[in-house]
Amino acid sequence: MPFKLMLILLFFYSCQSPKNDIGNKDTSVFSIVIHGGAGTILKKNMTKEMEIKYINKLEEAIEVGYEILKNDGSSQEAVEKTINVMEDSPLFNAGKGAVLNFDGNVELDASFMNGSTLDAGAISGASKIKNPISAAIAVMNNSPHVMLSGTGADEFASSQKLELKQNSYFITERRSRSLDKVKFKENSTVIIDKEYLLTQKYGTVGCVALDQNGNISSGTSTGGMTNKKWNRIGDAPIIGAGTYANNKTCGVSATGWGEFFIRSVVAYDISALMEYKGLSVQEASRIVIHDKVAKLGGNGGVIALDNKGNVAMEMNTAGMYRAHMDSKGTKIIKIYADK
Ligand code: ASP
Repeated sequence: MPFKLMLILLFFYSCQSPKNDIGNKDTSVFSIVIHGGAGTILKKNMTKEMEIKYINKLEEAIEVGYEILKNDGSSQEAVEKTINVMEDSPLFNAGKGAVLNFDGNVELDASFMNGSTLDAGAISGASKIKNPISAAIAVMNNSPHVMLSGTGADEFASSQKLELKQNSYFITERRSRSLDKVKFKENSTVIIDKEYLLTQKYGTVGCVALDQNGNISSGTSTGGMTNKKWNRIGDAPIIGAGTYANNKTCGVSATGWGEFFIRSVVAYDISALMEYKGLSVQEASRIVIHDKVAKLGGNGGVIALDNKGNVAMEMNTAGMYRAHMDSKGTKIIKIYADK
């Protein structure tokens, strides 16, 4: 090769933006995993009709992302569009059907991370954004910031031409009843005890995807916890707690009692155990949920994918709405914890 041409090529490659492209590059392996929240999900309390509704919605959501990945789309697009399906469904605690705070309103949190560039975006305490995960991605792509909150997040979403909705769009009868129940309990027993909180159902939604270019993306979207006060923020919009992605290791999305997930830095800890200790994604997820979160007294679950497409769906609760599909077309949809 002529020396001049070599120099031009060298210059061209050195000008490429820095990327964390250590993932699974030159194969057509791809993989996607989702959750729709963990918690006290017991078969004895579930009607056949509700079970079918959840399974059908999980299947619809994961197939949206699967088709994007199969057609060589990006993991970012797969995560966004998959989560949008769950945000638009009143079944889950995200977007429409999000849980209500003490004042009877929604306060929406979401975050997204790109495992190739380590770019991230998040919103918290928004009350008008129809699809919070899309706003989190817009914060990442179109602002100099990582996290926006409250009315500022709503204003930013509006400036991005994202769809806004009135309060009434988000509020469902089911969530109003749950708020009444929690308030009644609070009034009758003076304090909400820990035992009671441990029986909560966490309906947060999340998705992790690995695309055919070896790039991992993770996203999480939630309404937080019923009856929350004082603009409480959970783990879902916090990078490293509820969401993390790094092509070197894995992508993670969490659901559970957010305070414990923040204190355990759950999503980043799974990645760090893989990076520094060489653990598999399943071992790392198991240790963080069962040895760390559980030992502090918290509960919940995670979904995670490594850069080869290996999956972990770990929980210390009775169940977690979850689904996984891989490039071989294998599809797993589950509600209750494995025995
Ligand atoms: N982790 C969420 C929070 O604490 C709740 C959930 O998973 O549903 O805000």
